[in-house]
Amino acid sequence: MTRVLVLNSGSSSVRYRLFDGSEVVAKGHVERIGEAGGAAADHREALQGVMDELDLTGLAAVGHRVVHGGERFTAATVITDEVAAAVEELIPLAPLHNPGALTGIRVARKLLPDVPQVAVFDTAFHATIPPEGVLWAVDRELAARWGLRRYGFHGTSHAYVSRETARVLGRPVAETNVITLHLGNGASAAAVRGGRSVATSMGMSPLPGLVMGTRSGDVDPSVLFHLHRVAGLSLDEIEESLTRRGGLQGLAGVNDMRQVLEHRAAGDADAALAFEVYVRRIREYVGSYLAVLGRVDAITFTAGVGENAPEVRAAALAGLEPLGIAVDGARNDRGERVVSPDGSPIAVCVIPTEEELEIAEQTRRATGLAS
Ligand code: AMP
Repeated sequence: MTRVLVLNSGSSSVRYRLFDGSEVVAKGHVERIGEAGGAAADHREALQGVMDELDLTGLAAVGHRVVHGGERFTAATVITDEVAAAVEELIPLAPLHNPGALTGIRVARKLLPDVPQVAVFDTAFHATIPPEGVLWAVDRELAARWGLRRYGFHGTSHAYVSRETARVLGRPVAETNVITLHLGNGASAAAVRGGRSVATSMGMSPLPGLVMGTRSGDVDPSVLFHLHRVAGLSLDEIEESLTRRGGLQGLAGVNDMRQVLEHRAAGDADAALAFEVYVRRIREYVGSYLAVLGRVDAITFTAGVGENAPEVRAAALAGLEPLGIAVDGARNDRGERVVSPDGSPIAVCVIPTEEELEIAEQTRRATGLAS
């Protein structure tokens, strides 16, 4: 009775993974839901298809990935009607992300009414960041009324890899300080002190911080005023530009780091500059989080780029030996778990992230199946 189904429902897709303990017994995805020629007309049909295919005997719980938990959800939460309504109320904070999850929750609860379901929030791990790390210096009343603050995202990933880093180093989690760099299509950095997040680079939305595949990361907010007033772009056009045509896509014309690296190697100046902007931003956050944490035991790279691009890891940390940070070329090229030389004051690690496994484990804990 330890099977847990993890569902990640987007606006037009559903990804699923069925766990037995920590073992994946089935996984897959349904794309282009509701689109002409897509496999399913709506989320109900997509999820019904998934459940018909899976052997759900002994299913103990369903875990749903939910991007935004707002101020209310600081841990994985068993879903009741009231919790589902609260996730719906958060849609204005995450208009691109929460609606898909909510549909997935509603449909799965109808299809599996007797199975406990849990919402696992991307924001929850960052609930431990102190107020001075989440507030911006803006009008307090406006901020309170409209929920303007940093929430942070990729929480399941930062939680998992920071814990794994301590395990790999053979240290207790509670005594280990880690800077985690989740570099995938989306990208974010976090400072984790003793297993608790104390700083992160994303904000109210997953737009700010590091340079991403198509998202800009940090920009001066005045850019928005300028684009609106002087360039005449609408707010929707500005949002579209910063979220879909920014990042590597904006700088290099391609959103995939593999292509950026290829074009750079072939002498493309735009790709070379995009790479420099990308790694420079990582360095700026690493430096900032060294100062926030004071003592750092490890810097950990994860996700598509972090796990697979030794060039990015080496360039982001180059020249930091005076700070106790070094990357061993051969270990880095092999992508070993620890890529710093033996005896480095700060270890540099590569830890593959396991967001679905983390969601399954948090689901088990929330439903009392595991402690
Ligand atoms: P993720 O969101 O974690 O799935 O990461 C996806 C991104 O990882 C892709 O868009 C690529 O840019 C990047 N990626 C995957 N494999 C490699 C690789 N071998 N080298 C560089 N980047 C990679």
